Amino acid sequence: MKAARLHAYHEQLKMDEVDEPKATGPHDVIVRIGAAGLCRTDLHIQEGQWAEKSQVVLPYTPGHENAGWIHEVGSDVSNVEVGDTVIVHPFITCGLCRACRRGDDMHCANGSFPGINRDGGFADFLLTSARSVVKLDPSLQPADIAALADAGLTAIHAVKKAIPVLGSGTKCVVIGAGGLGHIGIQCLKAYTPTEIIVVDPSEKALALASEVGADHTVKVEGTSHIDTVQELTDGAGAQAIIDFVGEKGALEDGVAMIEDGGFYYVIGYGENVNVPTIDIISREISFIGNLVGTYADLQDLMTLTAQGKVTLHTSTYPLEAINDAMADLDNGRLQGRGILVPASVPAAA
Ligand SMILES: [Zn+2]
Ligand SMILES: [Zn+2]
Repeated sequence: MKAARLHAYHEQLKMDEVDEPKATGPHDVIVRIGAAGLCRTDLHIQEGQWAEKSQVVLPYTPGHENAGWIHEVGSDVSNVEVGDTVIVHPFITCGLCRACRRGDDMHCANGSFPGINRDGGFADFLLTSARSVVKLDPSLQPADIAALADAGLTAIHAVKKAIPVLGSGTKCVVIGAGGLGHIGIQCLKAYTPTEIIVVDPSEKALALASEVGADHTVKVEGTSHIDTVQELTDGAGAQAIIDFVGEKGALEDGVAMIEDGGFYYVIGYGENVNVPTIDIISREISFIGNLVGTYADLQDLMTLTAQGKVTLHTSTYPLEAINDAMADLDNGRLQGRGILVPASVPAAA
């Protein structure tokens, strides 16, 4: 099969011919990839930011936002059949450890992460497990929903945590209206009555933010956006910051826009949190990390999608054009979420 593989850090991916994965374990599932979402994490992987953490051996195939059709199942798989349309929870979990028992899929003690520490979905086929696939209505097209597997899942996970903070009369700043941000805004609308203020340097991203439910949009320019947010929050700052950027100065901006006692949800990443501890205690700012989301979060997101409350905005590329897509993402030219479709997928699908 064809796979877009990373051979060396700081280099472009290469289209290789590799062996198809096989369902050898009883709970293994092979998904024929219909579409795979492109994530900023893929840029971070290429830059080598994950090398130490993931211990992945190069060359390998990234791609952790996958959807498609069941191609082969292991001997004990009963929840899906060959031909089913599925979206793939990004983590392969054991189901038996304490984290799994409490539904905390991402912290499974025996888990693995296709696309991060083993071969992922920038290929014709993906090996995952029965526990990781969510069966979908066959009318859903993988290219329309693949990015919900991680981008959407991460956004809904953070928003669900913020629900208790964001009652009526509250204000929430969303930093970044890209692939995750535009889903986060829709999830905030679906779950909370909060007033949503979106900040982003891109006019196009802000237009998309308005379209999907932002109450105010503020263009990042010098430091004027901080003043504007201060005005919009009556000088007090917002009760919550949902930061989908986490680099390029976003954290500094966010801390300047949060109310004392506020909650700062970190989703985007790349830079360090450099806040004096005396400010954290005197202002009582809570920083909350977010890693993808649970299987149940993914089911909830698919429900919101089926209800029309969450819609993905995407730009589709053939898998062969992955390096163009990555360059577009890196340079802010990509609106919504980038989606890669293997050449093997029929044009109608
Ligand atoms: Zn991702
Ligand atoms: Zn587990």
